[in-house]
Amino acid sequence: MRALTLVGDRQLDLIDTAPPPPPGPGEVQVQVAAVALNYLDVWGFRGMAFAKRKLPLVVGVEASGTIAAIGEGVAAFAPGQGVVMYGALTCGTCRACREGRDNLCENVGGIMGFHVDGFARDLINLPARLVIPVPAGVALRDAACAPIGFATVQHMLFDNAKLEPGETVLVHAGGSGIGTAAILMAKQIGCTVITTVGDDAKAEKAKALGADHVINYRTDRFEGVTRKLTQKKGVDVVFEHVGAETFNGSLLCLKRGGRLVTCGATSGPTTTLNLMQLFQQQYRIIGSFGATMKNIAQSLDKMAAGLTPVVDTAVPLAEFERGLDRLAGRQVFGKVVVTF
Ligand SMILES: [Zn+2]
Repeated sequence: MRALTLVGDRQLDLIDTAPPPPPGPGEVQVQVAAVALNYLDVWGFRGMAFAKRKLPLVVGVEASGTIAAIGEGVAAFAPGQGVVMYGALTCGTCRACREGRDNLCENVGGIMGFHVDGFARDLINLPARLVIPVPAGVALRDAACAPIGFATVQHMLFDNAKLEPGETVLVHAGGSGIGTAAILMAKQIGCTVITTVGDDAKAEKAKALGADHVINYRTDRFEGVTRKLTQKKGVDVVFEHVGAETFNGSLLCLKRGGRLVTCGATSGPTTTLNLMQLFQQQYRIIGSFGATMKNIAQSLDKMAAGLTPVVDTAVPLAEFERGLDRLAGRQVFGKVVVTF
């Protein structure tokens, strides 16, 4: 079978390797159908300092597939069924896992495709407890965007920022995979959405997706425009993932008592913070990473109800690296999906 393997920093190799053995007790074997790309793949490909890992490593952090075989004692799945996979090897037994806070697992064995072997291969064996069924009517290409793309946003907006209908939210980088998902999810519950993009073509697409106000951050200062749009009150929630370039501006966009939720730092990881402003304005700043199993199921349910992810490009497995280039070059509007 094929396995797309990182053999060195910025060096991918599509190797032919032995398929896994039949699934063991409590395991399922999944035939991978699609891998969706994330900025995590870009960091992994470049060889990021915080990634403790051993090469070679099979890449791919987010995927969908069909059940190829089931191990002893697995009753919840049947061969041929569409599924998606949780992206980290959680223990399933610690307090966080037992309480459904999977992304706070105390004994996590690593992120698949980043610390340990990932999903960009034809077949993979996994514990059945890390697999989630895809509802009828959801294409596997779309489902591949559920475990990270959609579920991260579900977790950020609803579990963490507690976004309510009627509130105003600023979504940074509205053309990114998670930005497009955030626009869709916030509009679905009746929020006012302000979003930032880097060019006019993306601005049109963001409007078509439902954004109420679109700011081209290359020609306008988003802080000023956002304050003007909200009659100087500020927004209830800022959806951050850009990092150093935007973080302080994002705080200036918040109303008193507003919430900023962040899951990324693509423009840089460090910034300075005005602590007077933080406590006087009673901001809530929430870090968010990954999602729970429940968030993935909620994401798939949203897709089944018609909230389909925006897919910018689909590329074959052999062109994984071209997909990464598009993502890293900020050329995309929506997700890049690798099909098998
Ligand atoms: Zn655990």
